[in-house]
Amino acid sequence: MPEKKKSLNITDAEWEVMRVAWATKETTSKEVTEILNEKKEWKSTTVKTLLSRLVDKEMLGTMRNGNKFTYFPLIEERKSIESLSEEMLEKVCSKKVGRVVTSIIKDSQLSFDDIDQLETLLKEKRKTAVKVVPCNCTPGQCQCHLVR
Ligand SMILES: [Zn+2]
Repeated sequence: MPEKKKSLNITDAEWEVMRVAWATKETTSKEVTEILNEKKEWKSTTVKTLLSRLVDKEMLGTMRNGNKFTYFPLIEERKSIESLSEEMLEKVCSKKVGRVVTSIIKDSQLSFDDIDQLETLLKEKRKTAVKVVPCNCTPGQCQCHLVR
């Protein structure tokens, strides 16, 4: 059994708040409300709820500063993005992962640097490529096992 990676388990709304925390390094509920006001029109009570949920989930740390609280990320943005893509790829049959990756690249605007990195990576990947990727699904959750 491969080691079960720690999943992010946060909602889209919580993710929006985490992005502010990563960008600012340290923030307050007032600042998060101001920054997300245009995009989300969340009330300050909504932001406070999201912040305290993220503290419960150990995504944010909090510190009392006089009579106000500041919040700071406990998990790196880079790590979270990795978990996010792992979680996404766990949702499809391993035989279809190649298609998902292809469609992500198709839909992305890339820099020359990004493309150089991808080309290098693909050359590396070719060395360990297989003829057919084995299915890793629970029987019945993809067509690989259906004999009808
Ligand atoms: Zn499958």
